[in-house]
Amino acid sequence: MIQCPNCGSRESIAHQARQRPNANYVWRSRTCKNPQCRSTFSTREYSLEELAKLIDKDDQSVVDLRNQCDDLLADLTELITQYRTTDAKGN
Ligand SMILES: [Zn+2]
Repeated sequence: MIQCPNCGSRESIAHQARQRPNANYVWRSRTCKNPQCRSTFSTREYSLEELAKLIDKDDQSVVDLRNQCDDLLADLTELITQYRTTDAKGN
């Protein structure tokens, strides 16, 4: 199960799943079920087959891997921006 990054609870509610164009994963927003926590966080779901493709050693997989890293960095940058504009209580 997915663990809440705030309190460690394994109970969360999955909200909308977003399929990005040309992405080989599903992006999902979640809310922690712990009443004292209620953090929202997001996850990416990859199939193991897609991940395995990224470690193949041909040229195309290097390009794919680079694209995946760029894409992941864009998500993390957005997350950091949210942290900066959010106080400890989540407001
Ligand atoms: Zn939590």
